[in-house]
Amino acid sequence: MARAERVLPGGVDSPVRAYRAVGGSPVFVASGRGSIITDVDGREYIDYVQSYGPLILGHAHPAVVAAIQAAAPLGTSFGAPTEAEPALAERIIEAVPSIEMLRFVSSGTEAAMSAIRLARAATQRDLVLKFEGCYHGHADGLLVAAGSGVATLSLPDSAGVPAAYAAQTLVAPYNDLESVQRAFAAHPGRIAAVIVEPIAGNMGLVLPAAGYLAGLRAACDEAGALLIFDEVISGFRASIGGAQAVYDVRPDITVLGKIIGGGLPVGAYGGRRDLMSLIAPLGPVYQAGTLSGNPLAMAAGTATLDTLREMPDAYQRLDTLGARLEAGLRDAIRTARARAVVARSGSLLTVFFGFDAAPTNWAEAKQADTAAFSRFHHAMLEGGVHLPPSQYEAWFLSLAHTEADVDRTIAVASQALTA
Ligand SMILES: *Cc1c(COP(=O)(O)O)cnc(C)c1O
Repeated sequence: MARAERVLPGGVDSPVRAYRAVGGSPVFVASGRGSIITDVDGREYIDYVQSYGPLILGHAHPAVVAAIQAAAPLGTSFGAPTEAEPALAERIIEAVPSIEMLRFVSSGTEAAMSAIRLARAATQRDLVLKFEGCYHGHADGLLVAAGSGVATLSLPDSAGVPAAYAAQTLVAPYNDLESVQRAFAAHPGRIAAVIVEPIAGNMGLVLPAAGYLAGLRAACDEAGALLIFDEVISGFRASIGGAQAVYDVRPDITVLGKIIGGGLPVGAYGGRRDLMSLIAPLGPVYQAGTLSGNPLAMAAGTATLDTLREMPDAYQRLDTLGARLEAGLRDAIRTARARAVVARSGSLLTVFFGFDAAPTNWAEAKQADTAAFSRFHHAMLEGGVHLPPSQYEAWFLSLAHTEADVDRTIAVASQALTA
């Protein structure tokens, strides 16, 4: 870590990895296989970070490794089209109900940023409405989370974002349809799009209330705004068709990443053909990328989706594992008389400390007892369980996790909670 800190800000290339929220020094990973990572000192951990979502098959899945190994000797990047791109696109379009056409990029950030540009072009409007606690990558206009109650014109969440640009983003509380109505009423004909994580995974796991996503769809339709689902986490995780298939709500544009790259850098945005036809070279919305549709990334994504589809019980399996972990953690919390709740959706899970009921929005979630989480995190690490180093990140189960992993995790958690 000391060596890394001399040459990389905070020793890392993405801030949460530096463990600032929980203290201590991060695990430096040497390798991963299935559910397990091994650090540079040879210690093994059951891993619930799983790259923050891409690794639904676990680390170094043989089919994914083989696909990358087969692709690499043929050349790693061309700046010219390859058959690997339509091959992965066809699989995504077949699976995700609202996508007729898509564009590959290299990260979820790029995909969300480009989806917003497309929505603005399509509606010829400037404002975007997002929700507190939802993360859509680090593009300037999306790094805005302030404001509570009534939707407000926002201040940037990061230094270096012009206030004038952040002011193009409106913020409303998650799970509150009335505030969305108020935002549309306050800015008639000016909101291009509403962007939402249909299952919120970046304030800890927060589920959409019954009717919330359908309500957003109706509000957007009434106001002539586009609805963008950021399914970078939920895509191919909530189900093969993402959260939109589970909740039966069709967004105009879907933002994808993580799982569709199988652990290599990929993002995508897609939607109706008429909208996607606005993207260059078909239309006037410019968006490009030297490594977009990279053949190794396409191969890893295709192998991941094919492996998922060949396992007809994959999502049932993930839910069963998740339910087992949830039940064991609830028991452990009860036995230890800890003040904590477990939120879960399939293979996504958060233990929120300091609550009797799971938070439903960011105003609630940010009341969490983060000191209690930090103690828990350290005790889990000591016990050989690698959790995301923040109260506000979801744990990710993969198809490589076993009942034994889950039971071991519960046993370590029981100790950690009573300590
Ligand atoms: C991870 C994430 C992003 C950003 O993706 P990157 O590939 O990290 O740029 C965007 N939206 C959501 C919901 C995410 O979880």
